[in-house]
Amino acid sequence: MKIINSIVAMQALAIAPEREGRRIALVPTMGFLHEGHASLLRHGRSLGDVLVLSIFVNPIQFGQNEDLDRYPRDVERDCRIAEACGVDIVFMPTAAEVYPPGFQTGVSVRNLSLPLCGASRPGHFEGVATVVAKLFNIVRPDVALFGTKDYQQLAVIRRMTGDLNMPVEIIGMPIVREADGVAMSSRNAYLSPFERQSATCLMRALIHAREMFAAGERSVAILLNETRAVIEKEASAVIDYIEFREGSTLQELEVADDSTLLALAVKIGKTRLIDNTVLGEEL
Ligand code: AMP
Repeated sequence: MKIINSIVAMQALAIAPEREGRRIALVPTMGFLHEGHASLLRHGRSLGDVLVLSIFVNPIQFGQNEDLDRYPRDVERDCRIAEACGVDIVFMPTAAEVYPPGFQTGVSVRNLSLPLCGASRPGHFEGVATVVAKLFNIVRPDVALFGTKDYQQLAVIRRMTGDLNMPVEIIGMPIVREADGVAMSSRNAYLSPFERQSATCLMRALIHAREMFAAGERSVAILLNETRAVIEKEASAVIDYIEFREGSTLQELEVADDSTLLALAVKIGKTRLIDNTVLGEEL
């Protein structure tokens, strides 16, 4: 497994004549890997001849009062996991090289970036789309894998690659959960044991909404109240948003159907967690 820090070196490998006919699969991450990332890597291994893992804590997708400075990092452990998943290249550029002085270009996927996490985190999705566009230009992947844990992010990236005719196939992968249903996240490391227990309220709320939907409830107003009640029972939980949206456009809805997305963002103590489900799909 090669570890590459320089953009020029990574780009040179991606366009080298030896690449001829070899498919590159890319899994972009911010590191502090867990089983969710590993599932993307293992599937990526089966899709490409060369598997590239990028680790980059992207400063421009963090707001001013967010956790950029304390985002968890453990590069040695990440490399062990990467090796076990069959990664060929770990690409870890520095922020100084990704965003040199004078950098001023951004990719904005306008409408999809507005609701949900985009409303709570202004500028977040422009930061995400910009760095992913840069990674695509540097790594030149044929296929790139993303988790549906970050459902809106996946929607933004699909739209960007379509709108800008980027020659890369985007694969969305299911949410990997802990034994008690909590979605795996690098940010779970922030939770105290008590908060970790409280974090199960996100999954419990999703399950409750799914059960009501399965029993025939289609009114978004009623589903929303029911979902909110589950979270509000948890003393340490503060709701950022609970929204039912059309699964591909993320438009608002009054009546739910199989393709409806239920997306949650909830603060447990100081930690903001997200989770989601599509009502007609498996959890
Ligand atoms: P991150 O390092 O949090 O930026 O995540 C990198 C990639 O891993 C993104 O495409 C995420 O959607 C995906 N990912 C994160 N957590 C999970 C999870 N629990 N299950 C599946 N994919 C995940």
